[in-house]
Amino acid sequence: MRHLPAVDQDVIRLAGDPLFPRLLEQITATGGCAHPVHLTGHTTTRNATTGEILHHYDTRTEPGERLLVRCRNRRASVCPPCSRLHAGDTFHLVRAGLTGGKTIPQQIRERPRLFATLTAPSFGPVHRTTAHRERCHPRRNAGACQHGAPLSCTAAHAETDPHVGQPLCPACYDYTGHVLWHAHAGQLWDRFTRATRRHLATTAGLPQSHFPRHARLSFAKVAEYQRRAAVHVHAVIRLDGPDGPHTPPPPWGTADALTTAVQTAARSAAVRTPYSPALGELTLQWGAQLDARPLRATVDDGNGLADDAVAAYVAKYVTKSATDTSAGADHRLRTLDDINALPATPHARTLMHTCWRLGSLPELEPLRLRAWAHTLGYRGHILTKSRAYSTTYTALRTERAHHQRGPLPDNPDGDTEAQWRYVGSGHTPGATLLAAGIAEDITRNRDIARAEAPVAT
Ligand SMILES: [Zn+2]
Ligand SMILES: [Zn+2]
Ligand SMILES: [Zn+2]
Repeated sequence: MRHLPAVDQDVIRLAGDPLFPRLLEQITATGGCAHPVHLTGHTTTRNATTGEILHHYDTRTEPGERLLVRCRNRRASVCPPCSRLHAGDTFHLVRAGLTGGKTIPQQIRERPRLFATLTAPSFGPVHRTTAHRERCHPRRNAGACQHGAPLSCTAAHAETDPHVGQPLCPACYDYTGHVLWHAHAGQLWDRFTRATRRHLATTAGLPQSHFPRHARLSFAKVAEYQRRAAVHVHAVIRLDGPDGPHTPPPPWGTADALTTAVQTAARSAAVRTPYSPALGELTLQWGAQLDARPLRATVDDGNGLADDAVAAYVAKYVTKSATDTSAGADHRLRTLDDINALPATPHARTLMHTCWRLGSLPELEPLRLRAWAHTLGYRGHILTKSRAYSTTYTALRTERAHHQRGPLPDNPDGDTEAQWRYVGSGHTPGATLLAAGIAEDITRNRDIARAEAPVAT
């Protein structure tokens, strides 16, 4: 057996274990998770009055005396099966806020709802993909910058061109501005939502402080790294009555009023950075490129396609990590050597170096730029939503667990006692191979089921 590769030897070892079928069951239950968490422990449910044991589970009889549970990582580059599940949950979460369902009433379809994209401002020209014989940055007699780099580019770049997203002149590019903008993007979003409420109140002739008595603004937003490694934000923004999804907005709360308020707020929102002797004080704003589109209620045509498309669009982004756009890494960077060892573009690497350099300034300490060098200074979650927008990931997971397990035996008065301990994570090389195969089978079966499903009419 020694001449076999280590993976094969490990598969043979696992298959020889009498508990192998149960191991396969466990891996299947995690959907073929690539980095499962290992737990030991037990749970016992007793009848509260008689003390009779209604349900008992103990990991002592399991393979390796442990239970595997999903890692739940959202990134496809870390765990494809869990990232697919997370994308599905995000889809339902965003969709519920658009069309109702999961405790959200269907009337929200009639509410003013927008799909908006807010971008980062320009920190210097970068090479861009071009359509239909367009050129990258065609400027006649543009000459060169002070570093001798040409200020024009007459190339037509394809999507796969490694130049795309890289600055025309790295020395001219405002790396400090880019990193500080990322570090304040969350605050800028906050200012933006407050300004939107303020503009709506003004339109209605209300004092700002009265806004919450009349209406409520809800959103779900997802951050995406563009090719220039700057984050932009896609958001679903909805206007309800004062109690959220269950109350209609006041008559002045129209889709047009919301669109105007969002546009005005995106232009006016600003954050000033803390004063730094080295950098001075910067005023950070959104980029001029802004897209805000009302989502029409699709009750008439009955298929809700527009809403589903938006939800799917948002869900797609949560599975991506900073690495997918060759911007950043999906793990923390602890030293300068970590940054230098990454397979990153020169542009992304300079952004990480900038995080490292600025991270040493005492006045910027609260931004924790070194800890967030792997995301280029951006500290936000990939998906964030306001409380009233729709359901939560936790609620969706509970619902799924209930659905898979079925309701527990008839024990409304049961007392459950449980004790769990973390004992490790990951797979052996052989189990990795098995998990990947199981994940592939699950995906294939799902695709087949989808292809054979009757078309909804
Ligand atoms: Zn996983
Ligand atoms: Zn170019
Ligand atoms: Zn230059």
